[in-house]
Amino acid sequence: MEQETKICADCKEEFIIDSGDLVLYEKVGLQVPEQCFFCRMKQYFAFWVFGKFRKGVSDLSGENLITVLPNNPRYPVYKSNEWWSDAWDPMAYGQDYDPSRPFFEQLKELQEKVPRPHQTGENNTNCDWCDDAWDSKNCYLSRSFAKCENLNYGYRVIEGKDSFDIVYGFNLQNSYDCLACHNSFNLNFSENCKDCIDSFFLFDCRNCQDCFMCWNLRNKQYCIRNEQYTKENYENELRKIKFDSYKNLSIVKSELENILKEKAVHRENFNLKTSSSVGNYLTNCDKCVNVFTWENSQNCRNSVRGLNTKDCIDQLGTWNNELSGDNSGVYGGYGIKHSSWSNGRYSEYLDICDEVEYCFGCVGLKKKKYCILNKQYSKEEYENLKNQIISGMGKEYGKFMPFSMGFCDYNLSTAQVYFPKTTKEEILKHGGYWSEEDLSSKDGVPSLQLPDSISETDPNISSQALICPESHYRFNISTAEYDFHKRKNFALPRFHFDQRMLNKSRKLAIIKAYPYKCFYCQKDTMAYYPPEWGYKKIACEECYKQNIA
Ligand SMILES: [Zn+2]
Ligand SMILES: [Zn+2]
Repeated sequence: MEQETKICADCKEEFIIDSGDLVLYEKVGLQVPEQCFFCRMKQYFAFWVFGKFRKGVSDLSGENLITVLPNNPRYPVYKSNEWWSDAWDPMAYGQDYDPSRPFFEQLKELQEKVPRPHQTGENNTNCDWCDDAWDSKNCYLSRSFAKCENLNYGYRVIEGKDSFDIVYGFNLQNSYDCLACHNSFNLNFSENCKDCIDSFFLFDCRNCQDCFMCWNLRNKQYCIRNEQYTKENYENELRKIKFDSYKNLSIVKSELENILKEKAVHRENFNLKTSSSVGNYLTNCDKCVNVFTWENSQNCRNSVRGLNTKDCIDQLGTWNNELSGDNSGVYGGYGIKHSSWSNGRYSEYLDICDEVEYCFGCVGLKKKKYCILNKQYSKEEYENLKNQIISGMGKEYGKFMPFSMGFCDYNLSTAQVYFPKTTKEEILKHGGYWSEEDLSSKDGVPSLQLPDSISETDPNISSQALICPESHYRFNISTAEYDFHKRKNFALPRFHFDQRMLNKSRKLAIIKAYPYKCFYCQKDTMAYYPPEWGYKKIACEECYKQNIA
């Protein structure tokens, strides 16, 4: 098959569907999309809430709950444990198909009647102020994490313990303000590090201990600015830094930012144990093309954030599935298409369905077979009605569920991380939702007025409402947060926790490659660093391995 050049139906930019895409679309049974990769992803993000934590009540029991779902949702919200129980029957909302009306209109009507769970995740203790939480204990204001304990303000963390302000970290303990750091203890203010201990302001270091302000280092101890010190001199120098002062912290932070631009060598990508693939943050992948932050997968294309998939194309936030495509948040199955937050086989247009088979256009079903719009049919009736709907849909069939079925306001969806420049006009034009609610507040102390040093800050700061200088959201320093900072002698943060998380996350959300020349060999290299970041030393994989290891 030969590649096709098309004009995107949404952004009107030219884009290419290459021969590998065409083969996989045919294999999965999808039509060739009319939108470019970025516009497809934008639409999937309408189905992935980031949100803002708020209190609410269950529409079933009236019990209190904490959720990131919107304030006035189009649908009922039940507490998760109620949602997963037999206290209600999703089949009770079943609708007959009306051939005189558009199918998506009918599916949306059904979606607005069926309740959604208030929180994603299960098996947690004391993780009420969290979302997308799994097998965790005593975590607070965190999202997308598993097997964590005492994690505060975390996003995309696995096995994190006693740590604050962590984005994308596996197996971190007693750590603070880290991005893409793994297997480390007491690592602070660092990025892209592994196997580090008792260190501060590191970038791309491995197996380092007692280091400050270092980059691209391997197996070192007592280093400052990549220079070797004695133990005694290191300790003397470190004492002079004064992490307790917000002003000093800001100065050393901008020093590291400057090092990233001028001195640090940046790999063309962060792919590990990956072959015949194109993308970034791929681990154990083979033949994955245009795939980002993905693990343990084969032959997948055009996908962002997932793992354990095979022969899949056009997916966002998806895991454990095969021969599937055009999905957002599918968490298991085979032959699943055009679906959101579901798990099943041979099904299309599912929303929050679990373990279903041969279902078409269903919402909130569990363990069902041969259902359409939440109504039960025989196998033969199912096939006939499905074919009738598909021919009635005409050109609409094969498209993802419309923006108008997204279940959160777009400006509070996870798109904030990947497409922060999306405008209200753009989303409203697509029929999506945009929150007009003013979440900012003036009822508190502007956080920049806090005393410079934590040593001058009173412990009862925890009862003081603070205002973030960027989002203007109101926030508090929790007691645990104050104690943590006091113990480490670090200045308190000045920004709202969600703003801290979003700002950090955006660094890992680049899904477009830019042309560079390798700093060592001058070879043409594509790398995932927007030119405005100003990184001067980009290395191709071979040169990086030779020079940095
Ligand atoms: Zn486009
Ligand atoms: Zn090179």
